[in-house]
Amino acid sequence: MPPEGNARAGTTTKPRRVRNFIDGAYVESAGAKTFESRCPADNAVVAIVDEASRADVDRAVSSARAALGGPWSEISLDERAAILHRVADLIDERAAEFADAEISDTGKLIGPTLKGEIPRGAMQFRVFADIAKDGFAMSPIASQTPMGKAINYPERAPKGVIAAICPWNLPFVLSTWKIAPALACGNTLVVKPSEETPMTATLLGQVMNDAGVPAGVYNVVNGFGAGSTGEFLTAHPGVNAITFTGETRTGAAITTGAASDIKDISLELGGKNPGIIFADCDFDKAVAGTAASVFHNCGQVCLCTERLYVERPIFDKFVTALKAKAEALNPGDPRDPSTTLSPLISLGHREKVLSYFEAARADGATVVTGGGIPKTDGPFSDGAWIEPTIWTGLSEDSRTVKEEVFGPVCHIQPFDTEDEAIAYANDSDYGLAATVWSGDGDRTRRVASRIETGVVWVNGWMIRELRSPFGGFKKSGIGREGGEFSLDFYTEIRNVCVSEG
Ligand code: NAD
Repeated sequence: MPPEGNARAGTTTKPRRVRNFIDGAYVESAGAKTFESRCPADNAVVAIVDEASRADVDRAVSSARAALGGPWSEISLDERAAILHRVADLIDERAAEFADAEISDTGKLIGPTLKGEIPRGAMQFRVFADIAKDGFAMSPIASQTPMGKAINYPERAPKGVIAAICPWNLPFVLSTWKIAPALACGNTLVVKPSEETPMTATLLGQVMNDAGVPAGVYNVVNGFGAGSTGEFLTAHPGVNAITFTGETRTGAAITTGAASDIKDISLELGGKNPGIIFADCDFDKAVAGTAASVFHNCGQVCLCTERLYVERPIFDKFVTALKAKAEALNPGDPRDPSTTLSPLISLGHREKVLSYFEAARADGATVVTGGGIPKTDGPFSDGAWIEPTIWTGLSEDSRTVKEEVFGPVCHIQPFDTEDEAIAYANDSDYGLAATVWSGDGDRTRRVASRIETGVVWVNGWMIRELRSPFGGFKKSGIGREGGEFSLDFYTEIRNVCVSEG
């Protein structure tokens, strides 16, 4: 049974019932525990979710292991790609349903969810199906050594059972970013969505069945992290590799657990992303792009900018312009297309963000705008709303400038030289993403090549090609996914060496 019921932010009538998806079916949990999932726009309970017990996780991993030897491993790359294209088509057909579930879980805005995130999730199945189809074949290598002549045929094989541990900020996009390449490479999967956002990955189970993905290939277990479903899954000896997206601290805990079994691991972790704005930039474009990079999804994208460095001649003008953008954002019904600010994921996360507001004040920040909770009307007055907030005047070693806040916030610092801006940008434990705004092409290339992050955007933000490499420097991650880089994580390479006489 897929998630059922008709809960909607602000008009809750009945919470959905979300069950785990194991061996091609929505199943009764072996444990008796459930938990509530709330829509952060109005704090209404939108789902009652089965928390997968150790026995449920065991069942899911066993079903994934059994499916490894079945038709999913035996069909041709063409047939597998055709099934994954069908998955994509079915998601597109049911986009409104997926968007509705995602909005119930997250309070995301209808426009970017229905027109952006859900279709992008579908697209990943097409793109990775085609990449695997074309990228599995590897060139033979002829060898002539004192030991004899041979031809080496490197070939890719599925890695096995993949555990995919997913975050809440872009639930569908980030789970399909793992699910699509894992399946395209012939693996089987157990997915654990964030406890905050169980619905879309669970709903996808029905699509997998309808598209013809064999039972056991795709499984979903819901629950929490440490001491719960997430830990049971990552520690399970039947799992061959773990792909994780989430906080750096959690990534460290999972890596420690995986080490004893030598499980392969791919980590996409936190960030504290800098933006550098030079005085010769296209000012309006830089302001609009920077506003998007700070406030999109209420600042809850790992790629959002939280540290801005603005060349001194345009510093005051830039601060004033960004303040105007922040103050134009309006919270409200996420399903109303005129709403432009979504809520934080939960009241608990709002407490964390508010603690940074306090820390910034205590460290002597000038609050340019925001710094509190906005007024919202009617059913939305109980939601996890927060004011878009801009600070200036903090030292670079203050907590708010060093740590990831994960909200619609930024600190703006002036700089005088290119070297100074680069030094500021690189003075971080993290290295996920950066933006550089300048009209001088030589400068942007020069600066970009000195920035220690996995992606540097020049005069833009969030233009993400699925075929390009993605991952972080330093504490922002280990490994790269995206395009053929995903093939390297989701396959093992075997070298078949054929002796020639
Ligand atoms: P989180 O680390 O709290 O949780 C992520 C997932 O891990 C959840 O499913 C959670 O239940 C699970 N988990 C927690 N503890 C676990 C444990 N001990 N064992 C197994 N599983 C465990 O992260 P979040 O709050 O959901 O997401 C926000 C964070 O994710 C931010 O730091 C953000 O920067 C980061 N993020 C990074 C990227 C990227 O691509 N680098 C993308 C999105 C989000």
